[in-house]
Amino acid sequence: MEKAIVNLNKARAVSPRKIKRMNLERLSSLIKPSGYFRQKAIKLKEFSRYVMSFSVSLKEWFSGDTADLRRHLLAIHGIGPETADSILLYAAGKPKFIADAYTLRIFSRMGFERLTNYAEGQEFFEKNLGPNVYLYQEYHALIVELGKNFCKKREPLCEKCPLTKLCQKKI
Ligand code: SF4
Repeated sequence: MEKAIVNLNKARAVSPRKIKRMNLERLSSLIKPSGYFRQKAIKLKEFSRYVMSFSVSLKEWFSGDTADLRRHLLAIHGIGPETADSILLYAAGKPKFIADAYTLRIFSRMGFERLTNYAEGQEFFEKNLGPNVYLYQEYHALIVELGKNFCKKREPLCEKCPLTKLCQKKI
């Protein structure tokens, strides 16, 4: 996610107007490091079109109430909770925890059996960590790395995993 944002910044494309005008292929290549880049590029374009319909800058739009922004984002075609919260956390700097599939898989395996869906996972982390944008960003980035490199869907690498001593390995 961070690399994709750096790429967008380098290309001076962090504005709804530029993203809306940008060729889909070019946008997809800039956000490639974040994974599922083609779908994300389509969603970003849809999001940009939506924000522009308010005739305010992105900064002004993001300064709104977090719950209202989330409701607006979820009303955009193709944007679900994970994408909405990624936009809120990384682009708007709002404290929304991203309880994605990696998070649920890792913490279920570790023994947190209550975390069976996105909303439950998000509530659990937000309640226990408190509202902290930087911490949520770091936490999410580390969870994604752990999920990709060790706690894989099939054949997790428990012997090499940095959490092996803390984990109940409920696989
Ligand atoms: S020890 Fe194994 S099951 Fe537990 S988090 Fe690491 S890879 Fe996943």
